[in-house]
Amino acid sequence: MRSLVLATRNEHKLVELRRILADAGLTVHLLGLADFPQIGEVAETGLTFAENALLKAHAVAQGSGLPAIADDSGLCVGALNGMPGVFSARWSGKHGDDQANLDLLLAQVSDVPEGRREAHFTCAAALALPGGDERVVEGRLHGRLTFTPRGTGGFGYDPIFVPDGESRTTAEMSPAEKDAISHRGRAFRELATLLDRFPGL
Ligand code: IMP
Repeated sequence: MRSLVLATRNEHKLVELRRILADAGLTVHLLGLADFPQIGEVAETGLTFAENALLKAHAVAQGSGLPAIADDSGLCVGALNGMPGVFSARWSGKHGDDQANLDLLLAQVSDVPEGRREAHFTCAAALALPGGDERVVEGRLHGRLTFTPRGTGGFGYDPIFVPDGESRTTAEMSPAEKDAISHRGRAFRELATLLDRFPGL
């Protein structure tokens, strides 16, 4: 069976991608970074989601000697000219402090009226082969920001994001409901169809 590495130490992301690949009919053995302790953190120095996803995928393909997949995602707010974007995970200055990031963002758009609060989540998913070949795809979820947080599911900015055509925030949806429409679900599903016919895999 073909082996692939997903550039993550997050077990939830591994489980999610294994499910998406299986649903797409792909039989691959998906490993994570826990299987390659020699590979260190890759600095996300890119200015776009695609750049960051490719940086991580190439570093892991080189370090593992196997084809590697990586993703990078974030929230882009129209009223903030597309920010926080690639800075979503560290918007408040502290990497991964979801509550501080959300509080700061809400404060920044507190006077932006209903109707001008559009935003979208983006996820870039990249594939890199040890020989250097690469592909990258993007998935988006469009919606708008609420004025106050709602819901306890999900993570990050989910409590303040309502997808188009929905009245609930993504934090009020079940994981399966969110997966079906999410930027990450879309990007990974597209990557799965691409993997199926990728030369050298
Ligand atoms: P990454 O792990 O470098 O891709 O950073 C993603 C960051 O973007 C997270 O820390 C969240 O702040 C935000 N983000 C990405 N996807 C989602 C989502 O599905 N819901 C809520 N926040 C998200």
